[in-house]
Amino acid sequence: MLPIEEIFPLLSTPKRIFITTHHKPDGDAIGSMLGLYHYLVAKGHNVIPVSPSEIPEFLMWLPGVDKVVNYEAESKNAEKALADADIIFCLDFNDFSRTKHLTAHLEAATQPKVMIDHHLLPKTVWDYAMSDSTKSSTCEMVYDFINLCGDNAMINMDIAACLYTGVMTDTGSFRFPATTASVHDMVADFKRKGLNHTRIHEEVYDSWSAQRMQFLGYVLLEKMEIFPKYNTGLITLSKKDLKLFNVNTGELEGLVNYPLSIGAVRFAVMITERSDEVKLSFRSKGDFDVNTFARTYFNGGGHFNASGGRSTASFIDTVAYFKQILSDIHPR
Ligand code: 5GP
Ligand code: MN
Repeated sequence: MLPIEEIFPLLSTPKRIFITTHHKPDGDAIGSMLGLYHYLVAKGHNVIPVSPSEIPEFLMWLPGVDKVVNYEAESKNAEKALADADIIFCLDFNDFSRTKHLTAHLEAATQPKVMIDHHLLPKTVWDYAMSDSTKSSTCEMVYDFINLCGDNAMINMDIAACLYTGVMTDTGSFRFPATTASVHDMVADFKRKGLNHTRIHEEVYDSWSAQRMQFLGYVLLEKMEIFPKYNTGLITLSKKDLKLFNVNTGELEGLVNYPLSIGAVRFAVMITERSDEVKLSFRSKGDFDVNTFARTYFNGGGHFNASGGRSTASFIDTVAYFKQILSDIHPR
């Protein structure tokens, strides 16, 4: 893998560029993809952003979101864009399998592949990489990339809004430990350029349906279990629970964090039944390493304090298995 600067000569003439991100994209995934999209388009490239699956509703206001091809809905268009591309950018993931249905297509692609990502333990399948697990978000790294290209002056409000969204969601609104001085410097730069950050917080956090709020009440009252002995809070959601309140998976964003607001809880877990698998989300505060936990027990990974995994066992068996291993670990 070469450092990302080595790609600059290739970008000096207009190229066809394919950008993608991980399956079930979050704010950082779509924010970084669209931030880079706006920048590369302004540089004269022909760019197609492809999301492996549907974009959640709370991101549907992002500038350029209408340009994103959803692989699940338009696989042929996405595959053509990939085949026609000169360069492939992969954002906010470091292992092809995180793109689910796109995995085999990316593996087979022979064009130069560029990765920009902040997760731990990157695979070495990229030609060019910017990989730094100390970074708050991939959006912050796209900002670094634009600066490295000497193009800070090209950052317009479309780029700033996309990048701000991802850094805001990945840092829990600037509270997680990865929120460095550099993150605040970047936000200060966006503010000087004219960013309306209040509007972005409203779009992302204050645009719930009443039903989603009622679902939150139901989850906290009926679906959250606290295990004081293990400093752990567990939320379990079956397909039936989701159907009851007609919520989609995008509306589960942030739910896993609630148990961590309890002083004694150091480890929060959410187990969700999906149509094809059981999804697990892990969050911690302090020094319990949920990246290692997810890798060891649930075929996943992520960051030290935020990770995810999956299980092919049934929902009920997965919950039982989790409770069983809880006594083997000691989150403090
Ligand atoms: P979430 O719980 O929000 O899905 O994921 C939390 C963090 O863990 C995110 O940074 C996400 O990219 C990462 N993550 C989630 N699921 C997986 C997985 O199956 N494998 C790996 N390597 N990382 C994951
Ligand atoms: Mn991220």
